[in-house]
Amino acid sequence: MAKSSNSTQISHALSAWKAGKLVALPTETVYGLGAPVDNEELISKIFSVKERPFFDPLIVHISSIEMAKKYCSHWNDTLDILARAFWPGPLTLVVQKSSLISSLITSGLDTVGLRMPRSELTLKIIEQKAVGIAAPSANKFTKTSPTQASHVSSQFSQDDVYVVEDIPSEVGIESTIISVNESERIVTILRPGMITSADLTNVLGNEFQIEKGLTAFEKSPEKVEAPGQFKAHYRPDYPLSFLDCSSDKKDQLKHSYPDCEFISLSLDPFVTARELYTQMRTPLSTNDLGQAIYKRKCFLIDLSSRQLTDKESELWSSIINRLTKATTFTLEDS
Ligand code: AMP
Ligand code: MG
Repeated sequence: MAKSSNSTQISHALSAWKAGKLVALPTETVYGLGAPVDNEELISKIFSVKERPFFDPLIVHISSIEMAKKYCSHWNDTLDILARAFWPGPLTLVVQKSSLISSLITSGLDTVGLRMPRSELTLKIIEQKAVGIAAPSANKFTKTSPTQASHVSSQFSQDDVYVVEDIPSEVGIESTIISVNESERIVTILRPGMITSADLTNVLGNEFQIEKGLTAFEKSPEKVEAPGQFKAHYRPDYPLSFLDCSSDKKDQLKHSYPDCEFISLSLDPFVTARELYTQMRTPLSTNDLGQAIYKRKCFLIDLSSRQLTDKESELWSSIINRLTKATTFTLEDS
């Protein structure tokens, strides 16, 4: 079916919310499953449709800094500098929430994650709705995030979700999430992404210390009922692994593990991030009769033989963060 015009999609998105549906929104990181922050029923529907536990808080997407300030009880100069430097873009700021943000969105926390996405179309939809849009990635809980409209429509019923179609996500993995302690001059990276500590230091200067932390979800493993569920994330439907090894070794690996498909990832971290989830969503190779040739897949990343700058290492760590959570076997012990 031909894609509707942008203005038609904007009006369909606004009507879908009125009709009690969720709206899948394109962003440069991944596609989000959105509901207006002032509609508790639809916010609950995000958790039920995604099968996401209520203790995993949602990020709120805004279309202007003015809108961000409405949802934050203490906006400060550092937040302002970061927002002006990186928005619209793949940086989520965890801030003290205002009373306009319900505890359903934040899983009872007094902080909320705010982000201005880079898609023009999504920004227009938020602007016209004139309310922040809570939107986690538009995939079932623990499964691979979507970076194209078709990834979303193949996973959810049209009765539950209206999918806004735009170009594939250009960044390809989820935003960098940070919190800021302005008085102590500390920025904590809660989830790594394609905005790195070097990028943050460039904007804030060396007086800010950049630390590593955990997301709210990672901090509450005791709330996870099923053992192992805590680490499972971004998972495709087949066994997946990755190896840091030179592409020269591919033939040898194929010989040693004939049941495993080996895919070399690009040496450019930006390209690998952009293509990662599409690669993960690509089914195992099949023969002409549609029968699976392989039982499992292994991505090869060639890092060990190269000299990486600090920034490159950090970009690759963000990618490896996703791959590690998506991995279900290691070649050595299988
Ligand atoms: P998703 O939108 O599915 O990519 O996930 C958003 C991530 O942001 C989750 O893992 C949350 O735990 C994390 N997050 C959202 N709000 C907060 C917050 N207020 N404090 C810390 N982490 C948060
Ligand atoms: Mg997600």
